[in-house]
Amino acid sequence: MKCDHKDCGNIEKVWLPYTIRDIPVVLKSHPYCIHCGMVKNIGSDRAVGVGYFINALSQMEKHLKLPGSSIRMRLVAKELENIEDFEDNYSMSKYAQEKIFIKIIKKYYNTPERIIQQYL
Ligand SMILES: [Zn+2]
Repeated sequence: MKCDHKDCGNIEKVWLPYTIRDIPVVLKSHPYCIHCGMVKNIGSDRAVGVGYFINALSQMEKHLKLPGSSIRMRLVAKELENIEDFEDNYSMSKYAQEKIFIKIIKKYYNTPERIIQQYL
């Protein structure tokens, strides 16, 4: 079940590696959720909404003039919305979201990863 995360506050933070694009850089104190224990992503690499990715996809389709695209776009949107934690800014970083997004796009579009990345 999805958790409405609640910060533990300033007293009980945990010290964990602070990562940038999956690479640990330094130890920093992280707040965690008092309900489920999930440690919060505190980096600048924060999760964004599904809308951001749908927008990126529509830009990509517009520039590449892909045929039959609106159906595929709906399928991609549905897949993103079905991922329960996709917009969870505790567990997700934008980098992690990009990896998921690219994986889904490659299922429906014959577009190389480096092209997709240009729209993110
Ligand atoms: Zn929680």
